[in-house]
Amino acid sequence: MLSATENTQGAADDKFVRLLRRNKLKVTQPRLRVLHIISDKDTAISQPDLEKLLGNSVDRVTLYRVLATFEEKGILHKIFDLHGTATYALCSTACDEHHHHDEHVHFICSSCNSVYCLDDFKIPSINLPEGYQLHSVGVNAVGLCAHCRALTK
Ligand SMILES: [Zn+2]
Ligand SMILES: [Zn+2]
Ligand SMILES: [Zn+2]
Repeated sequence: MLSATENTQGAADDKFVRLLRRNKLKVTQPRLRVLHIISDKDTAISQPDLEKLLGNSVDRVTLYRVLATFEEKGILHKIFDLHGTATYALCSTACDEHHHHDEHVHFICSSCNSVYCLDDFKIPSINLPEGYQLHSVGVNAVGLCAHCRALTK
């Protein structure tokens, strides 16, 4: 009999397997592991932090490729933290290959440097002058996250 955690793991696996298949990606352990870690966190995660959590199970080059593929396919979006390090968060279901729709505000904590997606705060569409082409818009709100704020009280 499966334990409760194994059951949850199995259900999540099914979800991620479907996500990979929908994007015509082969289901591989590194891809599933990265999806598990990222979906478990409420903050975006950098490649070095992912490396630490993955340990020796996934090498650096593989991880780099997994992240690049996921970003290209509209599975993950990239946000730069206050140090300019790229962090990754899951996309909304509206994203697809080459078309991201993560036009929400990102909150970055100035104390712990965590990046949060504020999905409810949409960035208004931007009307560019004639001849310009938009690739991405980023709006960061910087302050203290609830955790760090609690520590300073
Ligand atoms: Zn996206
Ligand atoms: Zn913080
Ligand atoms: Zn986001």
